[in-house]
Amino acid sequence: MKREAYLERDTKYEIMLTKDTAICIRALDYSETSQIATFFARETGKISAIAKGSKRPKSYGPIEVFSYGKIVVSVPAGEKLATLTEFDQQSNFSALAGNLFVLHCASFAAELVNLLTNDYDPNPQLFDSFLQFLQNINESQLTSHEPRVTSHELSSLILFQLSLLKEIGLQPILNACANCKTRHERRDKFTLSEVEGSDEFYFSSSANGLICRDCEANFPDKIGLSNSAADCLGNLKLLVDADEKTLDEVEKILVHHFTEILHRPPKMAKHILKS
Ligand SMILES: [Zn+2]
Repeated sequence: MKREAYLERDTKYEIMLTKDTAICIRALDYSETSQIATFFARETGKISAIAKGSKRPKSYGPIEVFSYGKIVVSVPAGEKLATLTEFDQQSNFSALAGNLFVLHCASFAAELVNLLTNDYDPNPQLFDSFLQFLQNINESQLTSHEPRVTSHELSSLILFQLSLLKEIGLQPILNACANCKTRHERRDKFTLSEVEGSDEFYFSSSANGLICRDCEANFPDKIGLSNSAADCLGNLKLLVDADEKTLDEVEKILVHHFTEILHRPPKMAKHILKS
């Protein structure tokens, strides 16, 4: 936002140099030797830049999605497409590609960042949380020796998605009914199965959060939640130890919510959901 205003004031030919730390969230071939890359940069926000000659040998490229490092871009006044002049790659999170599900989780996160942020609208907290998420799932691939259970990646993705919603100003209300504010009474593990049916909770995208059974009739878009999914949403610490069925249910709710926010399903969603 700030940048655009600044550009408008400047002369038509002025070019501004921006140095930043960035993660590539999208890369397309532009010509035989060049690419157009979209970066999410820490201090600048989303930038689309043409990378001339990036596919030539001895260049800084080719640029791959999830490559991360210091960039220098020049932004001609009044234009959205910048030119990438330097890219000092520190990492491309190479372990992500070793497991298809992990790669899908990372790609889904990148798609959401791309769709839900604006060009040149800085969000350092979101950048840090995205970087942390990529480091986290990349690391778990490097340290694991067995075929991975997907729970860790899924819970990391869920936490990232919730932090994305928070950072773009759409934090859902999850610890109480979003309508009447009744607290979500959490039970401990021993009583979970015994109190079946009590304390029902739903998720409503239009209410932006959990809805209790007294209010559910007012929200036709509500989706019923299992006790364990409602508990996890009400207390995010429980996500770490949640079983895969519960994580799938929570992720399904989030995909539904993002679909409502975007007015269409995110492309990567079908690769994440089991059912
Ligand atoms: Zn209520």
